[in-house]
Amino acid sequence: MFSLENITRKNIQEMTAYSSARDEFGGTADVWLDANENPNNTALNRYPDPLQNSLKKEIAKLKKVNVDQIFIGNGSDEAIDLLFRAFCEPGYSAAILFSPTYGMYEVSAAINNVGVIEIPLSTGFEIPSLTELRYDLSTPGLLFICSPNNPTGNSTAQNRIIEIAQNYAGIVVVDEAYIDFSENESALSLINEVPNLVVLQTFSKAYGLAGARLGMAFANADIISILNKIKPPYNVNTLSAEAAVQVLKEPKKINDQIAEIVSERNMLTESLRKLKNVSAVFPSDANFLLVQFTEAKTVFNALIDAGIVVRDRSGQIENCLRITVGTKAENRNLLSVLKAIEK
Ligand SMILES: *Cc1c(COP(=O)(O)O)cnc(C)c1O
Repeated sequence: MFSLENITRKNIQEMTAYSSARDEFGGTADVWLDANENPNNTALNRYPDPLQNSLKKEIAKLKKVNVDQIFIGNGSDEAIDLLFRAFCEPGYSAAILFSPTYGMYEVSAAINNVGVIEIPLSTGFEIPSLTELRYDLSTPGLLFICSPNNPTGNSTAQNRIIEIAQNYAGIVVVDEAYIDFSENESALSLINEVPNLVVLQTFSKAYGLAGARLGMAFANADIISILNKIKPPYNVNTLSAEAAVQVLKEPKKINDQIAEIVSERNMLTESLRKLKNVSAVFPSDANFLLVQFTEAKTVFNALIDAGIVVRDRSGQIENCLRITVGTKAENRNLLSVLKAIEK
């Protein structure tokens, strides 16, 4: 049912990729007169490696994938945009979303003139099963599964992802921006078996590098080579790639931070559930909580007055605020402000 050749845009298949100086000569040398750089040595006078090989080697070890199964973008947002450009025909393909979910999928679809089919999540914010879906999956395009989902915090079971991918003519994109905070298995282990699966992860959340703009896409080597073909030649800068290599050298530090955030998330869940004006704290596999209040607007404004900013998601889910888990001190501050306005 799925054929990569059928869904890759003709112009992308037929074009020749830009070949940079660094692409054309990848060896070592003493004198570099090929890229019109300033020859005076500073840490940044040379163009970066177009394919970020040192960083990819570290990621490959950590994630147990091959280097040619990794794409690195200027944030996951770049990967999302490139997926649209490669695999969606403007004015013809469709993007399937399960709402409420991350806003960038719809924005990226709009930028690329790709229509959106929004399917509501069912009770418990679950993605409907194939029999409940009643949607024709034979129209090619992109289907997004955000797991754990932003803003609801819950995950999608792996068998549902496989079931959908096997019946879909386009590419299933599983966005795992929050996977490091979850106990569920990543869909990464499926990329060798499922030809139309792309898994997105990011350095922006658990790895603490939101300012560096580094997103990862994992898929079979054929999909990854198409993304590499159409990306801007030097999409990831030297400073960011080096910052990520440094972070990956200290796995214990990040793992300890993740453990603390998860334990704080569980503490916050318990404490928030005891407040009189809280109607629900939804179970979360991420580093945030979706909290339903009796009157979200009042709570939102009271928090702003106390200098605390949370995300108002009432437009998507009635009376809901999305609250990121902060430091221990920040979380206690949040709780004390909420306690003061409880009734
Ligand atoms: C935060 C987030 C991202 C990360 O995007 P970057 O561009 O890598 O910073 C991706 N997907 C979801 C669902 C997110 O919430």
